[in-house]
Amino acid sequence: MKLYKIKKSNIDKRGLYASKNIKEGTKIIEYVGKIISKKESEQNEKFDNKRDIYLFNLNNKYDLDGDFKFNTARLINHSCDPNCEVAGVGLKLWISSLRDIKKGEELSYDYGFSYDKDYKQFPCKCGEKICVGYIVRSGSRWRINKKFKKNKNLVTNFFQK
Ligand SMILES: [Zn+2]
Repeated sequence: MKLYKIKKSNIDKRGLYASKNIKEGTKIIEYVGKIISKKESEQNEKFDNKRDIYLFNLNNKYDLDGDFKFNTARLINHSCDPNCEVAGVGLKLWISSLRDIKKGEELSYDYGFSYDKDYKQFPCKCGEKICVGYIVRSGSRWRINKKFKKNKNLVTNFFQK
């Protein structure tokens, strides 16, 4: 039995949900696609001018392009407090659980977008308490949080004066 099912999601149109209780560290679904050389991904216009949402680094020679309908794992949404991670095992990518997941929970992982001037193009609707409002990898979120804090201080100062 599959560990997931496709359902309407509050984060995006659709998402994957746990179809039964899943233990921490379980391989849930393979992230499948086409293995392409770095050269190919650098030259292909398809990967220009947008975040590499479906493009994963496999090693220093190859990437995996998961932008295909048959890649069900591409429906998994980003969350600021994800319950899954994507990890490479040789030339395969697996979505695995970071913790125990209850039946009916939406599956999510950190899309790992870097922080740059375009970050506002990718709002996050994960709804988690720690959501920073944008899809930015966890290691870079402090940059946004700092910004939020700064703005908050500005508002506070304004009212105090
Ligand atoms: Zn979020």
